[in-house]
Amino acid sequence: MELLHLKNLDLAGKQVFIRCDFNVPMDEFGNITDDRRIRSALATINYCLDEDCKVVLASHLGRPKGEFDEKYSLRPVARRLHQLLHREIKMAEDVIGEDARKKAAELKEGEVLLLENLRFKVGETKNDPEFAKKLAEFGEFYVNDAFGVSHRAHASVEGITHYYDNEHKAAGFLLEKEINFFGKLVNHPVRPFAAIVGGSKVSGKLEALENLLPKVDKILIGGGMAFTFLKQLGYNIGASLVEDDLLEEAQRIMERAKKLGVKFYLPMDVIAAEKFAEDAVSKIVTSQEIPDNWMGLDIGPATVRLYREALSDVQTILWNGPMGVYEMERFARGSSKIAHFVADSYATTVVGGGDTADLVQRVGVDDEMTFISTGGGASLELLEGKVLPGVKPLMVPKEDVTL
Ligand code: AMP
Repeated sequence: MELLHLKNLDLAGKQVFIRCDFNVPMDEFGNITDDRRIRSALATINYCLDEDCKVVLASHLGRPKGEFDEKYSLRPVARRLHQLLHREIKMAEDVIGEDARKKAAELKEGEVLLLENLRFKVGETKNDPEFAKKLAEFGEFYVNDAFGVSHRAHASVEGITHYYDNEHKAAGFLLEKEINFFGKLVNHPVRPFAAIVGGSKVSGKLEALENLLPKVDKILIGGGMAFTFLKQLGYNIGASLVEDDLLEEAQRIMERAKKLGVKFYLPMDVIAAEKFAEDAVSKIVTSQEIPDNWMGLDIGPATVRLYREALSDVQTILWNGPMGVYEMERFARGSSKIAHFVADSYATTVVGGGDTADLVQRVGVDDEMTFISTGGGASLELLEGKVLPGVKPLMVPKEDVTL
């Protein structure tokens, strides 16, 4: 797949709208805990600044409910951008309102304006054409560098592209890098290929799991999603996270894995706790012996050993989703052990997803990974072989591809 290149645009001195993914994790004080997504966008922003462009940046942050909410303001991102770019960042008070439009109109070459959180407007997630059109008024050129949301047909990702022809839109450097990397991973993985899949829900990753099955040799399940599978196998999972409506799907996935010869691993022990809290009473139990009303919040030591064994011969590892509630120290051990093991392995190691990227950074092994993707959902959809809605409009038409 060839993308419309940023370097082919005649940008000099023009106003450019760059859709970034500044959806960064923050602590309870509003401090950014992992600014990888911001740093990853700098190449594209700097390129446009070097071209003397007037740069308008836009992003979402979290899930506000379509109206202004201080908690989700992009101001902390503006401050971090200021530190990283060493230049003033103008911050708009709103998204497409009077203040944003006024500041955009006054923008000079080499200046940067950051719009407020796109999701303060319902039109963003609804892919409202009117809202998309208003966004398009912010730039003579459109650049998408927001890999993390490119699997969503949102106004700033998909709708807006209809207002630009192929000479006026392109993929940013980050988007291009991610797409190329996953393209190679899907088409030519070095085997054995293992996927470690964790996180809270099966629902968000069901399709991905299904589609990964024909591509991988092993799947190792962790996190809250493991309990839906364990319950389906007849285990008493106590009060652990479960999606009862997906039990049949879980069964189907396990059967399909068997048919395809994919080794399917589930936790054999867990850290069970009396309640969902850092100070909860907890103990290591086998998956067969989770007490009633207790919940499994991390994989146990036997599972860590098992997974280490299973990973010892693989050449490619894709990891998406933590093994436990890694935000609480008590339940971070499984994720941390797996992170160290993945980092030390000689395999090609690919980490996808905000949580997993945050986790490997907390553990301090982020530099050891081959590739850390800025998009969890997006990378899974790419691995499924899907063409992402935000990427499709940025593909060079087939007849123009030079072979
Ligand atoms: P996801 O967004 O689906 O990738 O899930 C990430 C979240 O899953 C993290 O915030 C973890 O705290 C949470 N998580 C992982 N394991 C468990 C578990 N056993 N029970 C509840 N939540 C979990």
